[in-house]
Amino acid sequence: MKELDPLKKIKSALKKAKSAIITAHIDPDADAIGSSLAMAMLLKKLKVKPVIYSQDGIPKIYKFLPWAEKIITRVPEKLRFDLAIVLDSSALERVGNKIDLKKIAKKIINIDHHPDNKQFGDINYCGQSSSAAEEVFKLAKYLKVPLDRDMAENLYVAVITDTGNFRYENTKVSTFLMAAELFKTKLNVHDITTKIYDNKSLASVKISALAMDQLQFSDDKKIAWTSVTEEMLNKVGAKSDDLVGLIDQIRAIEGVEVAILFREDKGKIKVNFRAKANINVSVIANRLGGGGHHKAAGVIMDGPLVNVREQVLAETLKYLV
Ligand code: AMP
Ligand code: MN
Repeated sequence: MKELDPLKKIKSALKKAKSAIITAHIDPDADAIGSSLAMAMLLKKLKVKPVIYSQDGIPKIYKFLPWAEKIITRVPEKLRFDLAIVLDSSALERVGNKIDLKKIAKKIINIDHHPDNKQFGDINYCGQSSSAAEEVFKLAKYLKVPLDRDMAENLYVAVITDTGNFRYENTKVSTFLMAAELFKTKLNVHDITTKIYDNKSLASVKISALAMDQLQFSDDKKIAWTSVTEEMLNKVGAKSDDLVGLIDQIRAIEGVEVAILFREDKGKIKVNFRAKANINVSVIANRLGGGGHHKAAGVIMDGPLVNVREQVLAETLKYLV
């Protein structure tokens, strides 16, 4: 029997469903958040009741997004759902360890754009597009659900952040066509980008300065890295929210091919990688137990920081030679 198209399967699952829990990856970025919120809006239009869950909540800077206030960080024990919709996550473990979606939902729908997606859903809709948001956009078109401005705002923020404002190679014709359609809902693009890019907390500028002051380089200056300890955060009154974008500033330095940020977080060390040209940092992250995209990847490791740094730098050097 011919395998049904995932879009058809999603349509039929949504038709039968009354409730769904929507979630994305821990430490959510704007694609995780925007695609989740747009998906929730889409479900509401289809009369499926959405619950939006994020184990880590969301960074302060994205709280202006329409429906952001509906995101919950704890799911009441007894709640059960017809569907779980997982966005922007290459593996089921990426949603965190506080809920068991297989137990609380009858069916899992996996919607993603990571090349290393593990196809963990009962239905897997995983494309090679710019963002999970672009996959949600394609789904909305397929389902003939008209976009409204709030949905468009969530999708727009997701797509501009995952493409670095249409700068990265994941920006395709389809990405611009999507942006044009979003624009037609009378989005205030300037207002949105101001809220994201010209709205830094003083603490985030101070922690950047502190981290940049301790920047280190490999002998050939192609790898640059720095670390943010809890002590540093406390010193300037910053939170992990205030680190959004720091890794991109390190990559932006002339001659740097790979940027690495190590940060202490509740006893674990979070490692973020960014690459500039032809280096695939997801391979390095994968070898260390994480994952991601060619030019943006990450892994969470057990401390202490010095050991993690040594191991990660050794793996990075090994990959580069
Ligand atoms: P970030 O540096 O947190 O913005 O993440 C960049 C990319 O790497 C995103 O696509 C993440 O989903 C992915 N990523 C980050 N951390 C991990 C991890 N621990 N395991 C797998 N993928 C990750
Ligand atoms: Mn994404």
